[in-house]
Amino acid sequence: MRYEDFHRRSITDRDGFWGEQARLIDWETPPQTICDYSNPPFARWFVGGRTNLCHNAVDRHLRDRADQNALIYVSTETDQEQAYSFRELHAEVMRMAAILQSLGVRQSDRVLIYMPMVPQAVFAMLACARIGAIHSVVFGGFASVSLASRIDDARPTVIVSADAGSRGGKVVAYKPLLDEAIRLAQHKPSKVLLVDRGLAPMERVEGRDVDYAALREQHLDAQVQCTWVEATHPSYTLYTSGTTGRPKGVQRDTGGYAVALAASMRHIFCGNAGETYFSTSDIGWVVGHSYIVYGPLIAGMATILYEGLPIRPDAGIWWRLVEKYKVTVMFSAPTAVRVLKKQDPAWLTKYDLSSLRALFLAGEPLDEPTARWIADALGRPVIDNYWQTETGWPILTIANGVEPRPSRFGSPGVPMYGYDVKLLHEVTGEELTGPNQKGVVAIEGPLPPGCMQTVWGDDARFVSTYWSSFPGRMAYSTFDWGIRDADGYYFILGRTDDVINVAGHRLGTREIEECISSHPAVAEVAVVGVADSLKGQVAMAFAVPKDAGAVETPQQQLQLEGDIMKLVDQKLGAVARPARVRFVTVLPKTRSGKLLRRAIQAVCEHRDPGDLTTIEDPTALEQIKALVASA
Ligand code: AMP
Repeated sequence: MRYEDFHRRSITDRDGFWGEQARLIDWETPPQTICDYSNPPFARWFVGGRTNLCHNAVDRHLRDRADQNALIYVSTETDQEQAYSFRELHAEVMRMAAILQSLGVRQSDRVLIYMPMVPQAVFAMLACARIGAIHSVVFGGFASVSLASRIDDARPTVIVSADAGSRGGKVVAYKPLLDEAIRLAQHKPSKVLLVDRGLAPMERVEGRDVDYAALREQHLDAQVQCTWVEATHPSYTLYTSGTTGRPKGVQRDTGGYAVALAASMRHIFCGNAGETYFSTSDIGWVVGHSYIVYGPLIAGMATILYEGLPIRPDAGIWWRLVEKYKVTVMFSAPTAVRVLKKQDPAWLTKYDLSSLRALFLAGEPLDEPTARWIADALGRPVIDNYWQTETGWPILTIANGVEPRPSRFGSPGVPMYGYDVKLLHEVTGEELTGPNQKGVVAIEGPLPPGCMQTVWGDDARFVSTYWSSFPGRMAYSTFDWGIRDADGYYFILGRTDDVINVAGHRLGTREIEECISSHPAVAEVAVVGVADSLKGQVAMAFAVPKDAGAVETPQQQLQLEGDIMKLVDQKLGAVARPARVRFVTVLPKTRSGKLLRRAIQAVCEHRDPGDLTTIEDPTALEQIKALVASA
């Protein structure tokens, strides 16, 4: 079938198209209405249908593939490797579900999961889905303040956590960060379920903290049936950064998400039941939700859960896993490939990679040298795909399962079925229809199944944040710039807002600024994203100290820079740590007091800062220029 026809039908015969896709999953009660868009921009998919994500990911496969691998856990941090069949996964998920129920978790309650990459994290996610509870996974790299704000927003009944994670052989204790986060939060969970990996000592809080291993023993024979929920029942929230310091809880439904993932496994990833999928992401990110946990399992595939670095014990580790588990579909991020590119290329020819059909890359722009290098080294298609936490599955890519087409270097591809993608003028909101015109990538409502339903607990914020960018027009803004070539391929040109992307991790500069400003020696700070050859972007901070005398000597500057970095590590997590903190006496602002972040960024990247007629104090940018030149 021609992909254009497939896509066109998904827009012009929306209900017919998605009604067919809905058959890819199991329903206890089939949907009565495919899409209710009577209250835009809120789309309600598969209304009247009742289903369960865990049933579709696990139970459904017990009939035909109970003894096939479902979850393959590999940790090069703790030297563990353990495969769970669908039967074993089913049993573990029922045990976890029984434990959560015994701790008081009921349908629609939130369970916050703050975990390293261990199987129990996946059991907990699936167990929540099983009993209709709403999980909220917080990336293990986040620290106490980030975690506290998410606890207060999600108001979980139970938090599931562990003693520690490990990175590059270094133990990262989670429990002290969690205790501090709970101390800071207004909301207190009634129970904290702890997986003890034996990596770091844990102090237990009487009456609140409970031990997973002990409770599992009590629930070894647990039988917990799936709770059938409405298709529109929220399955999870996942926090993401925006332009304010307050993260947004992206709320996902159940039925739409299951259908979207099942369809994407068929049309985009071309993964088949019985095969193995390997996504190198983390369960704390959206890729981990969609393509470590739910997508592959819904498709009846085994999924690899990998804890460790791509180059440890050596740079062949991923390819060894591809050979050993006959991985057919692999998903990673450009940064990881850039890390591998610095290693001996012989690692890529050492193993038998004949099972692998394609490598998918996402999360940040894929530059041509990186794409070419890995495509040549693997001799397999490398498929870029562009999407966001908000959408849950790709917006732009190539649907080789519908009609094979070549990828184009530098372009993630074309709009996926269900997405009515438009390029809109940033001020007038007019549609840009000609080739090679730069505009904001927007999506005409309704968003397809699987995309966010709303911002958790804040419908007004959903509308004002995402649907109010263009005058006289209600369209979803991705906050990315893009252009489209004459053949309809899109190119993404970076964010229109203050969100930056460090090694595929999305961070809000405001959050980092708020954290740095809380340091007693800092009066003001500006954080910008600056191009980096390895990580795509890094954060750079320019701070005005309260007392200029405190940073007179290079030693004093280094000392305060180190203190500020430590503060960011403790409060937000090392992922948010700026590459440098430099000191200036004044920040470049407009006369009305607006920070000129783009001008700072341009200077850091040795570009022309553009129109500076509104700048209050021109020496401010000169100071930054001098610092950049001296670096
Ligand atoms: P996240 O919500 O963390 O997945 O981040 C989404 C943002 O990452 C998008 O809005 C883009 O700015 C960027 N992004 C994700 N995938 C790509 C891609 N394939 N090419 C370019 N930018 C991407």
